[in-house]
Amino acid sequence: MTAEILAVGTELLLGDILNTNARYLSRELADMGINVYYQTVVGDNRSRLLNAYRTAFSRADIVIATGGLGPTEDDLTKETAAEYFGLKLELHERSWEKINALFKKMHANMTTTNKKQAMMPEGCLILTNDNGTAPGCCIERDGKTLFMLPGPPNECIPMFENSVKPALKPRSGVVLASKTLKICGIGESQAEEMLKDLIDAQTNPTIAPYAKTSEVWFRITASGKDEAEARRLVGPTVDEIRLRLGENIYGEDDDSLEGVIVKLLIEKGLTLSCAESCTGGLLTAKLVDFPGVSAVLLEGAITYSNSAKMTRLGVKPETLEKYGAVSEQTAAEMAKGIAETSGADIGVSATGIAGPDGGGPEKPVGLVYVGLCVKGRIITKALHLTGDRAKVRIRAVVTALDTLRREIIKI
Ligand code: ATP
Ligand code: MG
Repeated sequence: MTAEILAVGTELLLGDILNTNARYLSRELADMGINVYYQTVVGDNRSRLLNAYRTAFSRADIVIATGGLGPTEDDLTKETAAEYFGLKLELHERSWEKINALFKKMHANMTTTNKKQAMMPEGCLILTNDNGTAPGCCIERDGKTLFMLPGPPNECIPMFENSVKPALKPRSGVVLASKTLKICGIGESQAEEMLKDLIDAQTNPTIAPYAKTSEVWFRITASGKDEAEARRLVGPTVDEIRLRLGENIYGEDDDSLEGVIVKLLIEKGLTLSCAESCTGGLLTAKLVDFPGVSAVLLEGAITYSNSAKMTRLGVKPETLEKYGAVSEQTAAEMAKGIAETSGADIGVSATGIAGPDGGGPEKPVGLVYVGLCVKGRIITKALHLTGDRAKVRIRAVVTALDTLRREIIKI
């Protein structure tokens, strides 16, 4: 079974808005084992939209259209669909009553154009919209199915979840199960090399790599006749990848690096503080993304200047003078200083050159030192990062967190 996505809206073509509906729908359909071979974007134009329907249905059994269900002249999705299928539009009383009630509740004035939202192709199935005025609908004719969903994602997504998904699930014929393994600390090519024979031989399950900023994810997906079978098929490949990549894998599925670290710290009864220079608070902010962090995080200090490094963290003037602010020695003293002054079991620090200026032959842009002070023991790491200022900073954060994770595991 194949489906196509047809996003309607001139705004999309002009680049004013991002086609996030297509991304969402494609992902959901893939998860359901439904093939999507084409996505189309078409403007608010009757004849081009009509052509887009013709083309889409020449290739797919199911078309999911989004956008253009509103009350204005340029909202043409339903009207053009009715023309394509040779159907008339008729007033759907229940939807019309709902729209009236909604306007009354909002104390808003209704215009005659609002009635357009309740005009539906004859014989279609109405998909209720709990989050807006425009109902969606589904037309089934001659083995073709067209779903029409509203454009705003907060209306489109729930309608897909509540109405489209349950309708399509029994038709897809297969059930998919997948597991994502999340890797940090080794590059994508290195990780793929370690799994080369598995990737080369993949059929069911499949192994799909996703490169993230300083992370690699592998999604292992199997299809089966039911969920139990699909899950059973995923298992051995996941186990084999776990065995090969070992502690390079920090987590799976919804795990985040910061969440894994916080949980490890809680489990081991350890507290943490951060001293940041080039990351300017990003490291602490990343940890704070995880809701349970208050149990372990004591402090984050942004010590950007040399004087802050000395007064707040006790970095020695001689260290700064002799080795510079961007050095292994300074990173070590920063980590030690924050751990001691905040009373944390672990101090973590980052100091480096984020660019675009400030680099030199010996200390190029992208050179970042991470320091750890784990119960008095000092560990430092030099990172040679690539990318612009934003990328260098986020890569420094991810690598600092991963270095921290690998040390906590050992405790
Ligand atoms: P409305 O009743 O709000 O007019 P509609 O169904 O007619 O809804 P559009 O007019 O096409 O939808 O788009 C309304 C808004 O929905 C857009 O301004 C945009 O913010 C969002 N939107 C539309 N299409 C998409 C899409 N493909 N991806 C993400 N957002 C979208
Ligand atoms: Mg509209």
